[in-house]
Amino acid sequence: MANELTQSVTELNGVGKAVAEQLEQMNVHTIEDLIWTFPYRHEDFRLKDLAETPHNERVTVEGRIESVPTVLFLGHKKSRLQVQMLAGRHLIKVVFFNQGYLKNKLEPGMTVTVTGKWDRGRQVINGTKITFGTKDEQADFEPVYSVKGKLSQTKFRHFMRQALDQYGCYIEETLPTELLEQYRLQTIQQALEGIHFPKQLQDTKQARRRFVYEELLHFQLKIQALRKTRKEDEKGIAIAYDVEKLREFFDSLPYELTGAQKRVVNEICTDLRTPHRMNRLLQGDVGSGKTVVAAAMLYAAVTAGFQGALMAPTEILAEQHAENLAMWLEPFGVRLALLTGSTKAKARREILSRLESGEIDILMGTHALIQPTVIFNRLGLVITDEQHRFGVEQRRILKEKGDNPDVLFMTATPIPRTLSITAFGEMDVSIIDELPAGRKQIETNWVKHEQFNQVLQKMAHELRAGRQAYVICPLIEESDKLDVQNAVDVYQQLATVFHGQYEVGLMHGRLKSEEKDAVMREFSEGKLNVLVSTTVVEVGVNVPNATFMVIYDAERFGLAQLHQLRGRVGRGEHQSYCILLADPKSEEGKERMISMVEVTDGFRLAEKDLELRGPGDFFGRKQSGLPEFKVADLVHDYRALETARQDATNFVASEAFWQEEAYAPLRRVIESSGILEGERID
Ligand code: ADP
Ligand code: MG
Repeated sequence: MANELTQSVTELNGVGKAVAEQLEQMNVHTIEDLIWTFPYRHEDFRLKDLAETPHNERVTVEGRIESVPTVLFLGHKKSRLQVQMLAGRHLIKVVFFNQGYLKNKLEPGMTVTVTGKWDRGRQVINGTKITFGTKDEQADFEPVYSVKGKLSQTKFRHFMRQALDQYGCYIEETLPTELLEQYRLQTIQQALEGIHFPKQLQDTKQARRRFVYEELLHFQLKIQALRKTRKEDEKGIAIAYDVEKLREFFDSLPYELTGAQKRVVNEICTDLRTPHRMNRLLQGDVGSGKTVVAAAMLYAAVTAGFQGALMAPTEILAEQHAENLAMWLEPFGVRLALLTGSTKAKARREILSRLESGEIDILMGTHALIQPTVIFNRLGLVITDEQHRFGVEQRRILKEKGDNPDVLFMTATPIPRTLSITAFGEMDVSIIDELPAGRKQIETNWVKHEQFNQVLQKMAHELRAGRQAYVICPLIEESDKLDVQNAVDVYQQLATVFHGQYEVGLMHGRLKSEEKDAVMREFSEGKLNVLVSTTVVEVGVNVPNATFMVIYDAERFGLAQLHQLRGRVGRGEHQSYCILLADPKSEEGKERMISMVEVTDGFRLAEKDLELRGPGDFFGRKQSGLPEFKVADLVHDYRALETARQDATNFVASEAFWQEEAYAPLRRVIESSGILEGERID
């Protein structure tokens, strides 16, 4: 039966070599390919009342021709035909370009149906389609496909009609009847008919609903099957940590953990104890206290006789972690070491040998940790900070340095749930959604660029009080195309303004990483008062004395990134400020600025960002980790995603699913993905 569908499209009447080539450009080779090519939108041909149609909107009206058409020749085979028409109570003009042949077909008194764009001011329809007679015989909706070359929509639809009539019955239903009934979903045949040949709007909606659910269910089944195999895999390490010692550690802290910190500690501890390999994502807004959680978990591993590793994306961050962990853990006799690109050869050799012999309990550092010469004695737990900065490959290497160690990824990017269960669906997720008590909110203001002098005064005020300031610029070089403030320019301007008073530093992506670290170090030691920087400063740097941040061209950033940047201030006891310099042109840009001023919660901002900019922009173009969906849309179909996820989880956990015939098609979805043989999605 499958072979009926995998036949070439040339089996269809009218599809010869030329048409087949055009179809090939649309990636359509087989009959099945054709059937699964969905329209990207549906044209609405329902009749509308012109009185209620806004300017520039597409409209279909029925009416009577009232004049003899006139044709104006514009040269180069171009022409403009105009005719008067009475549509309801409206006497309007209808214009068609390059369709001079209509002149002889249109006569006063005829009834026609016209579709086109409504120019309300001039009372003109710029026609794209005309049919003779009343609207009755036409479908209300017509699918529009992204056809290539000379292939017309009409022809494409004609082939589709044939394909569905002759081969539609061979398309297999993957959803068991119980699901179709439970959610009142169309069968596969109904849905294909509805998406390709809708009679009314409801048809396309119902069809889409079915395909969205099916697509998300298939996706979730693969993910949940993967999670299940991992959970059942007993080859990981069971870390039998010392509860008493861990308690002593928490008691030694100058503060009590927040409720959210306690909750995630429990979640992670459960993973540590069990023999399956932990693969967990720890999300927590900037300043939510992830580091202390990481320290506690590493200590837990140490109390069970294992080594731990903590990897950070930059040297300065690795150093900050090293300082904190030394302060917290050395009193408990934990032996720590820091390994980065700037560790001297002799020290490095010593660290490596002590690591291998097991005399170092916790190794912290940058990606220097994943070099082949770094050999652990008994690695039990790996934690990576700001995980989105590490490539998948680097994460894998680190994981393989032990015998299936538990792995915890930390990120300060709040990720909306829909994206997190899609991009990181095969991971367990822990969330710290609460900030330690007593944090002062960062006062955020949005001002126009022309008000920069006032901003400068406010900055000077903070500097006089002994505080420090960040100035963030989007790009490092002048560009003709983008009217973007240049970090170097801003640096020079500020250096002149503050000359003899305050030290200004400059950091951007073109600096070598040692240079970046050196500048960052000077800033964190207070030798620089102002740091002009591109967004390289974004990753978890902690300079509690910095209380003032100016972000140039703030409208160029997404909300998630603005929030990350803003999180660099407000880390100490002093009131902090964030000034957004922006003259956004679009409504969306304005809305983003307003959200930043009004909303401080990273998760709410992330949801907003997703809503405003869509999933593609959320993680940035580079490594989105997001699968591409054919019909589903992560912003609008989040409920379906939740449902599909729940159903998939229940399925893979049930006996019946793995045995009964009704579920065979769904099982094949999992089997064909290779997941059960241990292939991974990431
Ligand atoms: P992030 O999650 O951004 O990495 P950090 O771990 O750097 O946050 O924590 C920010 C600051 O909050 C640190 O100075 C840390 O010691 C402090 N901190 C962490 N947990 C608590 C808590 N429960 N109560 C008070 N302060 C805390
Ligand atoms: Mg951090």
